[in-house]
Amino acid sequence: MPTIDLHRHLEGSIRPSTALALARKHQHWLAADSRPLHRLVAPVRTAGLLDYLERIDVACSTARAVEDWSLIAQQAVQDCFDEGLDYAEIRFSPWFIHTQTGLDPAEVIDAITDAARDASALLNLPVAFIGIIVRDLGPDTAMRQMNTILSRSGRFCGVDLAGDEAGYPPALFTPAFARAHDAGLRVTAHAGEAAGPDSVRAALQALRPDRIGHGVRAAEDPRLMEQLADAGITLEVALTSNVQTRAAASLREHPIKRLLQAGVPVSLNTDNPTPSATGVAAEFRRAATEVGLSEAQLQLIVRDSAAAAFTEAGRQLARTRSAADN
Ligand SMILES: [Zn+2]
Repeated sequence: MPTIDLHRHLEGSIRPSTALALARKHQHWLAADSRPLHRLVAPVRTAGLLDYLERIDVACSTARAVEDWSLIAQQAVQDCFDEGLDYAEIRFSPWFIHTQTGLDPAEVIDAITDAARDASALLNLPVAFIGIIVRDLGPDTAMRQMNTILSRSGRFCGVDLAGDEAGYPPALFTPAFARAHDAGLRVTAHAGEAAGPDSVRAALQALRPDRIGHGVRAAEDPRLMEQLADAGITLEVALTSNVQTRAAASLREHPIKRLLQAGVPVSLNTDNPTPSATGVAAEFRRAATEVGLSEAQLQLIVRDSAAAAFTEAGRQLARTRSAADN
């Protein structure tokens, strides 16, 4: 079966050793911290999404030069290869990186996507990028954030809405996402992670997404699950991260089982390999051994993941696979 990651944040993929080396290079406080790994890797359970995201803030703030982001992108693609991935969609927010480092968002996009393209060609591993609009920067800046991404639209396969889900509802971002649709980019949005089913429903209405980031709390509402199943909207689930952020009570009680039973298309992803200390293979292992999914359910997840890819290279994997099955 092909191994795919559709929901993987670049800012959450910075190797701890790289963050520490960059901290030394830029005299960042992390270099003097007595337990730097604890600042970068989250515990099994945090206080919630914003607490979990603090690790990503720290890692990002160590990368203060544009060439640091070239290195981070190169290593992120290398790590996908080493992990055995056949295809990855990596997402990042140029404006979040700007707020953490002061770097120019457009220059950051060029550095990341150029370095990733070179690594991807060298390793023959197809990689695509999703540009993130950060909720926390407010609806007033959302259009500016979107304009930066659209000024480099050929470098992205889609856009995403991320950050403080509970504090910033999707309807605030409708105009910006309408522009992404007009530009022909695919759309996903974080919802149903730090807020409940209403947040997923609002995202569907306000942003018209093809996929939902996490969306696991949709399992609290049978009618919403039916709506997701009917519309064929794939949820980008990340088991380890969902427990860490308290979107799910535990692996054993993870709502993925209810979602699958309701016929909602589900993909399994890492979210943030560094703070979650995980990879796609580890997520599938946990799905089998700790969540208790069957072999047939895992195979369905792989097929649904490939079919929900935002690029032809990703969907090709689904077709190759189903041809091999027949
Ligand atoms: Zn995410």
